[in-house]
Amino acid sequence: MRYSEMFLPTVREVPSDAEVISHQLMIRAGMIRKLTSGIYSYLPLGYRVIRKLEQIIREEMNKAGAQEVFMSMVQPAELWQESGRWIHYGKELLRFRDRHDHEYCLGPTHEEVITSLVRNDIKTYRQLPRNLYQIQTKFRDEVRPRFGVMRCREFGMKDAYSFDVDEEGAEKSYEKMFNAYNNIFRRCGLKFRPVEADSGSIGGKYSHEFMVMADSGEDAMAFCEKCSYAANLEKAEVSSPERKETLEQDWLPLEEVLTPDVRTIEEVSGFLKVDPQNIVKTLIFSGDGKPYAVLIRGDKDINEIKVRNYLNIAELELASDEMIKDVTGAPRGFAGPVKIKIPVLIDYSVMGMVNFVTGANKEDAHFKNVNMGRDFKAEAFADFRVVTENDQCPRCGGDIKLARGIEVGHVFKLGTKYSKAMKAVFLDKDGQEKIMIMGCYGIGIGRTVAAAIEQNNDANGIVWPMPLAPYQVIITPVNVNEASLTETAESLYQAMTAEGIDVIYDDRDERAGVKFKDADLIGIPLRITVGRKDLAEGRVELKIRKTGEVRLCPLDDIVKQVKEMIRQDMDFNIS
Ligand code: ATP
Ligand code: MG
Repeated sequence: MRYSEMFLPTVREVPSDAEVISHQLMIRAGMIRKLTSGIYSYLPLGYRVIRKLEQIIREEMNKAGAQEVFMSMVQPAELWQESGRWIHYGKELLRFRDRHDHEYCLGPTHEEVITSLVRNDIKTYRQLPRNLYQIQTKFRDEVRPRFGVMRCREFGMKDAYSFDVDEEGAEKSYEKMFNAYNNIFRRCGLKFRPVEADSGSIGGKYSHEFMVMADSGEDAMAFCEKCSYAANLEKAEVSSPERKETLEQDWLPLEEVLTPDVRTIEEVSGFLKVDPQNIVKTLIFSGDGKPYAVLIRGDKDINEIKVRNYLNIAELELASDEMIKDVTGAPRGFAGPVKIKIPVLIDYSVMGMVNFVTGANKEDAHFKNVNMGRDFKAEAFADFRVVTENDQCPRCGGDIKLARGIEVGHVFKLGTKYSKAMKAVFLDKDGQEKIMIMGCYGIGIGRTVAAAIEQNNDANGIVWPMPLAPYQVIITPVNVNEASLTETAESLYQAMTAEGIDVIYDDRDERAGVKFKDADLIGIPLRITVGRKDLAEGRVELKIRKTGEVRLCPLDDIVKQVKEMIRQDMDFNIS
């Protein structure tokens, strides 16, 4: 493509709402433009990257035996009523009515539509397993769209759904997708990790998120330095300790102390001059409307998702001031386990603690020398806390490290959640009617592109990994008014195009410095500069965007060299 003919509006200014670098660079490089909150248009440069990513995804999905379909974005309410999600999905689901007063929604995902499709056309085990996928537009009315296309309202997703006759088959389907996802992100040239994820109310241990490593990522993950254990911080487990009983002879007499207006761990620690490690925090939660107390060592934090999963309830939130007053008899900040009349859940970190400090369930008072077994009952021990750096790996005991990432993909074993509710059944070998076992597998298209930029940029702009680069090469004559330079540039452009290389010929009548800036900003991996002095010696300059390395190459060898470099960069990532 000739630069002079391209719709490639690069800009210098960063829009004020662009907080993260990928958002800023996608706007500045002329890849996207905002239409309205959380809704974007892709310009030619941005859309080329999307198409490259989609191509990699298609190849790997097809290789894994999935077949491509294309379903509607508009979905009838009836299907969502059947699955039960018309009520439960909440405000992210955009609902509307047509002229006949029929209710619809814009699909945020397609479990309902695909299940209705499959239940009508698959009748026997002979037609199973099947895996169907699409690359299609989703709409989620996110509360706070942000970070450009990373968390927007309308976005492209690759979503796949597998249907199997039994658990064993479903596991195989899951594994195939897990491997396909590894291949996809590896081929994109990204640094990523599959991490164990919380599967929430759907249950089951089979859920992995694919995280692109980036400090700016919204998700935190824990991983082991020694083994392959990695999990979303929401899910990351603490290795369960041996049950440690404390010795009765060590227990000091319980003592109530006056602590006026001293509420937080820091305040209590400072006021009573005790280490947070000798304080037990008591948090009161409301779980589906009922109160629960959760105890944890003062220097640790509670992971609410673990509490919610333990209780097997849908909603968990910190109790209101009223509920706290009601169950403890005191205002917020003075709760403790002694004589409390609600279920007490105890984190492993409290195990083995002696003579610790807790709230006294009384305004402006705490207890010293509290001991489990004497002052309150030690029931319901479990892992309720957020994993921290240097915790022990639950699998191998190695050191846990924390990192941040961007969730670009999610593989999920659904079981029979939708097939049961929507009666997707088949006749098995033994003539019995059985429910299909499902899995679902998503990749955010725009988010993956943004994540790639988040991971690959420098002060001058984007640094595309070769497989996603919108163009692989840019040819820049330093002066378009010198015929010898433009003739050479033109013939290189023709030769490379003929070789199937994606190349931009920067034929604009601009200063070389301006062109170089643009080439760096849009992140083209290889730049060829045609200048008078080098050309006189039969050479051109080749600059590698990623390393900054500059080479002088013989003109008659440059096409071959560039082709080889591209091949190496693309093949490197193919398993
Ligand atoms: P998140 O926790 O980030 O909201 P999710 O768990 O809701 O994601 P899924 O329902 O698993 O996401 O969707 C599959 C993929 O779609 C995600 O891994 C992500 O890459 C992408 N995705 C989800 N929501 C958005 C969004 N608002 N904007 C862009 N991409 C999204
Ligand atoms: Mg979401």
